[in-house]
Amino acid sequence: MSTSKIRRRLGWKIFISYLIVTLVGIIVLATAVRFITPAAYDRRAAILERVLQSAMNQPIGEVETQVINNFQAGLTESLLIALVAAVLVSVIVSLFVTRQVVAPVQEMLRASQRIADGHYDERVHVPGDVSTGELDELAELALSFNQMTARLERTETMRRQLIGDVAHELRTPLTAIKGSMEGLIDGVLPAEAETYQQIFIEADRMQHLVDDLQELSRVEAGAYELHLGPVAVAELVGTVIRRLERQFEEKGVHLETQVPERLPLVLVDEGRIIQVMVNLAGNALQYTPEGGRVCIGATATDSEVELWIQDDGIGLSADQLSLVFTRFYRVEKSRWRGMGGSGIGLTIAKHLVEAHSGRIWAESAGLSQGSTFHFTLPYA
Ligand code: ADP
Repeated sequence: MSTSKIRRRLGWKIFISYLIVTLVGIIVLATAVRFITPAAYDRRAAILERVLQSAMNQPIGEVETQVINNFQAGLTESLLIALVAAVLVSVIVSLFVTRQVVAPVQEMLRASQRIADGHYDERVHVPGDVSTGELDELAELALSFNQMTARLERTETMRRQLIGDVAHELRTPLTAIKGSMEGLIDGVLPAEAETYQQIFIEADRMQHLVDDLQELSRVEAGAYELHLGPVAVAELVGTVIRRLERQFEEKGVHLETQVPERLPLVLVDEGRIIQVMVNLAGNALQYTPEGGRVCIGATATDSEVELWIQDDGIGLSADQLSLVFTRFYRVEKSRWRGMGGSGIGLTIAKHLVEAHSGRIWAESAGLSQGSTFHFTLPYA
């Protein structure tokens, strides 16, 4: 058994500490006996001398009993003293060893109580060297305790941020609706179809936001099932085109495809991947001005199929590229009113692609240079 293996096993450590306590006890016992016996012997010898002096007049049997009794008393005396010393030392060593084992557990207990009180920044000391990986079960427990706490802290921060974001996102349309209604009540706004239409549009946006939020929470919590099956990429692209054709025509944006024939089948939940593609193609349409062009394409690589949706629209700058998949991110917050939506669509798309073990990313040569959104899907 190598020392590193022993260092990593709590059971071995406890076993060895028992062994140490026993050995220390035996050593103290033996040493004490060695030091105490001569003194005890001297005292008993003096008594024996007196016994032997008076033995001349006593029967031999009585003398023998007295000698044996004295010898036994001497032995018991030295053994008793040695035993007390051995027990004392063993207790001290055991206390020290037990503290080593119990202290981290007590620390974790205290930390978990503080976490239960909402102090998510609490961390415990990890006994041992994390860099070498030579950690026993207690150190590993402390390590995963810290990881769990860090995760809890992240979730808590996200929860707070989400509540703030949702409140902020809802406030915009609500303020607009309230403003219009006040205008109507005060007679500042005319009670005509256009005013009601404006109120309806804001209420409709709120409805969309709430629907998106519900979908986001379901996707983030993984509260949905993927019904995976082999699907042809051309079929997916065909469905997306059929769904969006009219909207492209209405806006005057040209939609084309570049899907090679005989692409291997992909293993996906058809409905979910169509949702992702409709979202990406919908964005491409949204952010491409009239007369622009959007292309949906696919390429087969060694291990997966890569799909892409390219537009020649308003494009994205380098720092915007890294943020578009963040929830509620919109390049221009004011776009809410004119174009675009809640900034949740790409977050949902990312979750869905990753649930299929795929990757999703955006590319753009810069503002006004168009953008391309890529994602990968596994082969069936
Ligand atoms: P939204 O509902 O606002 O479109 P998304 O999550 O789908 O939300 O997109 C987030 C943001 O990313 C958008 O508000 C927009 O600023 C930017 N974006 C997405 N797709 C494109 C694109 N094809 N071209 C330029 N910007 C885009």
